[in-house]
Amino acid sequence: MSTFKAPKGTYDLIPPDSATYLAVREAIAAPLRNSGYGYIETPGFENVELFARGVGESTDIVTKEMYTFETKGGDKLALRPEGTASVLRAALEANLHKAGNLPVKLWYSGSYYRYERPQKGRYRHFSQVGAEAIGAEDPALDAELIILADQAYRSLGLSDFRILLNSLGDKECRPVYRAALQDFLRGLDLDDDTRRRVDINPLRVLDDKRETVQKQLAGAPLLRDYLCDACKAYHEEVRTLLVAQGVSFEDDPRLVRGLDYYTRTTFEFVHDGLGSQSAVGGGGRYDGLSEMIGGPALPSVGWALGVDRTVLALQAEGIELRLPSTTSVFAVPLGEEARRVLFAKVTELRKVGIAADFSYGGKGLKAAMKAANRSGARYALVLGERDLAEGVVQLKEMESGEQTAIAVNEIVAELESRLG
Ligand code: ATP
Ligand code: MG
Repeated sequence: MSTFKAPKGTYDLIPPDSATYLAVREAIAAPLRNSGYGYIETPGFENVELFARGVGESTDIVTKEMYTFETKGGDKLALRPEGTASVLRAALEANLHKAGNLPVKLWYSGSYYRYERPQKGRYRHFSQVGAEAIGAEDPALDAELIILADQAYRSLGLSDFRILLNSLGDKECRPVYRAALQDFLRGLDLDDDTRRRVDINPLRVLDDKRETVQKQLAGAPLLRDYLCDACKAYHEEVRTLLVAQGVSFEDDPRLVRGLDYYTRTTFEFVHDGLGSQSAVGGGGRYDGLSEMIGGPALPSVGWALGVDRTVLALQAEGIELRLPSTTSVFAVPLGEEARRVLFAKVTELRKVGIAADFSYGGKGLKAAMKAANRSGARYALVLGERDLAEGVVQLKEMESGEQTAIAVNEIVAELESRLG
């Protein structure tokens, strides 16, 4: 063992568990790929100012959780704490919104970094798969994204999750509500930090997890009583579309994403088996974000799902993904000449798309068969000196132990037909 350990709040993904993470990423991405979303990858770090504006100066992410650093050249950068700001920045920079094909639909998958207090489900390096639909205001688009996330979770076999849904209004009705909420909050007994938050970002106070605060919020005004007619109609349409598609959700009038440019539809996926880190994913509309980072008005909607917490959700529901063994054939050469012959066969098998592995290091039969077993392969190919002389190879079916001699120059075709 080396003297080094993974940094605090991080962990390594190693086989065999890493296969589950890959499968989860793929399961979340599949419905997106199937629905017109194109893959986008952006740098792991950005100008710190992008996040300050694009995530919000008053958020925990920007004030406490960001990894910021100055380069030797004097640039102020931050490791990305989330994906939306970067994806929008990249789309604007590449003028994707001017190509005359809105919405621009993008999906991404990658690592994110937040300096948080590490605990189960909360890490300093974690992984998200996300989607953004940029440049269209259409309730069907909001519904689409919620449906695709629901489909992703269901395809993994998850069922113990709930979708919380709310509307945050728009620039017409939101300010009226904001003022009413501020009035209410200023009458409460709150600590200095929270009082400051009341001034800058009062909606975020609704999101305070502390029980003492939550108790005082019981009589707080609710946004749904302040929505303008256009926002009400929009939200009703999103709800109607979801109901028609058989996607169940709960109206949660207190669900907020407390940034000024988040608008209308807001949603969160929570899993009931995860304890306090129960949010597996979240998202919503952000009609004002593009302008906040210097772009044109581009109403948009998106979500990000956490891969780490989704894996924990699988564990909580006792779900083991059926992941086919990656190796189908394991080759066991006995001797120098056999090694050359079998190595050629393994290369050939791989070329025709059959997953094959090889016993390296000149192992004897016993150790090599152990390795074949561990690989999970359905077949072992054993080639000894007598086989060589006869021009055959022993094809062993691992489960039954049944063994057949097959001509060396027919083995690839034989395996192709057996493995279908
Ligand atoms: P929380 O309220 O738990 O801090 P959040 O609102 O900060 O979550 P988002 O910014 O909406 O989370 O990120 C979307 C998803 O990414 C979360 O639902 C979660 O699954 C995942 N996520 C966020 N932060 C972490 C973290 N520190 N460790 C692991 N997963 C995370
Ligand atoms: Mg957080």
